[in-house]
Amino acid sequence: MSITAIKGMNDVLPGQVETWQFLERRAREVFGAFGFSEIRTPIVEKTELFCRSIGETTDIVEKEMYTFNDKSDNSLTLRPEGTAPVMRSFIQNRLNTLDPVSKLYYMGPMFRYERPQKGRYRQFHQIGAEVIGVEDPKIDAQVLAMLHHYFQDIGISSVALQINSLGCPACRPTYRQALIDYLEARLVSLCNECQRRYTTNPLRVLDCKASGCKEATLDAPSVLEHLCGECDEHFAQVQSLLDELAVPFSVNERMVRGLDYYVRTTFELVTDQLGSQNAVAAGGRYDGLVESLGGPSLPGIGFAIGLERLVLMKDDAQAQTARPDLFLAALGEEAAQKAFVLMTELQRNGFRAEMDYQGKSLKAQMRRANKLKSRFTVIMGESELQSGRAELKDMDQSTQDQIALDSLVEELSARR
Ligand code: ATP
Ligand code: MG
Repeated sequence: MSITAIKGMNDVLPGQVETWQFLERRAREVFGAFGFSEIRTPIVEKTELFCRSIGETTDIVEKEMYTFNDKSDNSLTLRPEGTAPVMRSFIQNRLNTLDPVSKLYYMGPMFRYERPQKGRYRQFHQIGAEVIGVEDPKIDAQVLAMLHHYFQDIGISSVALQINSLGCPACRPTYRQALIDYLEARLVSLCNECQRRYTTNPLRVLDCKASGCKEATLDAPSVLEHLCGECDEHFAQVQSLLDELAVPFSVNERMVRGLDYYVRTTFELVTDQLGSQNAVAAGGRYDGLVESLGGPSLPGIGFAIGLERLVLMKDDAQAQTARPDLFLAALGEEAAQKAFVLMTELQRNGFRAEMDYQGKSLKAQMRRANKLKSRFTVIMGESELQSGRAELKDMDQSTQDQIALDSLVEELSARR
């Protein structure tokens, strides 16, 4: 039997990869304009990094990580998300000594052992951005404005921005306790998992998909009513700045995030186009994270976009392999040699040129040129070789011109 890919891990094939390249290219351009630089970290890290940052009682750490021991018995983990590795690198390379504000973005594969389904895979890709060093709500608004702008730029409008504040270490414990007390009185209605985790991670219950949990938490206390003065003020400013930048949003006080490091502003971009995989991007503030990983006490905020979900939402308009500029059809070995040299010359000059390598008939060669949707074709036989001239056929306009074979580059340049 032939070998197949690992379940939940996908190939991106020609025809689809063009959409990926488009989304990645636009991210680089938009994030670059907002002052972000790319950072690339390894896809494997010490397991401890994720346990300490994401949190021992989260879904990711409890059950979704690809963790293994290497040959020296070190516990390693394929990164399930990008923020912790970026913070690890930031601390290790002391990036804060270069500039008090670090704006970084990354893109690449992440790994989570989840049940594969539409929009949910075991290897998936994120494009993410992080700002380290600024507590001011202006940066929250700026990061959200950038995310909003990126979606406009790539032509996806069917997403809605939801924001919330999760408070800080000063006010969260009070809210946590209020929520635990509320849940305690409704324990029988909760699913098994929430009955188990309502004391260790009560916020997660608010975001459980089980219908019993949904119903039982309808009147749960709101995190926004438990914010301390400073968090309240911070959140109010984020909202007024978003208004000023004309970034549409709604407040969803039930939105909690699945990672422990989030404080204050959290957000999701949601869509109704992807069934239950409704979040296309998510993020928030993580003011204590850098310090908890052994770095300086610096605030941070960031987001990650799920690339597969973006691709699913993007129609196939971009998804077309690029068509050749010229197909060189050759009759006979000598003509094929000449075509080969001309083709390479064209490619060196930036033109997409194609030919046949299998000694096919002229008819078969022209069929392939049509199938590839080549813009121009040229047929080279004995007489063309002798005269050095041939017909350049414009396949779109159904016209043709006599041209010199040795000036193909100039002739095609003139028709660009
Ligand atoms: P979900 O609630 O869908 O499980 P999440 O809260 O676990 O998402 P994050 O950790 O915030 O997701 O990751 C940010 C984004 O990465 C998500 O909004 C989603 O678009 C994407 N994402 C997360 N997990 C997967 C996955 N297994 N397959 C594909 N995309 C994913
Ligand atoms: Mg998840």
